[in-house]
Amino acid sequence: MVDQQWQCLYCAGNSLEAHSIKGLLENMGVDVRLTGEALAAAAGELPMNVVEVQLWVTDNQRQQALTVIDGYLRTDYRDWYCGHCGEVNQGQFELCWQCQQDRDE
Ligand SMILES: [Zn+2]
Repeated sequence: MVDQQWQCLYCAGNSLEAHSIKGLLENMGVDVRLTGEALAAAAGELPMNVVEVQLWVTDNQRQQALTVIDGYLRTDYRDWYCGHCGEVNQGQFELCWQCQQDRDE
């Protein structure tokens, strides 16, 4: 068996983002390794949410992983507040579920 070449695919701004992307990748059958978290834990004083976490994938899955990352970066998953009624909506919706107001208005 040939050793896999691991490459740093993406540098996440925090642990939460790293795990979100890791989940997406694993759903697509891509193996992922994270680095940075252990260091943060060892340092003890740094809160987990401000530590950069690197995602690593193998050479032969890199292209597939890049496609997933690309999709992730294009999609805005953040919740948004309706400008009309103030309702909170999930990022994938373009219209307010409460009053049908367009997200951008
Ligand atoms: Zn609304």
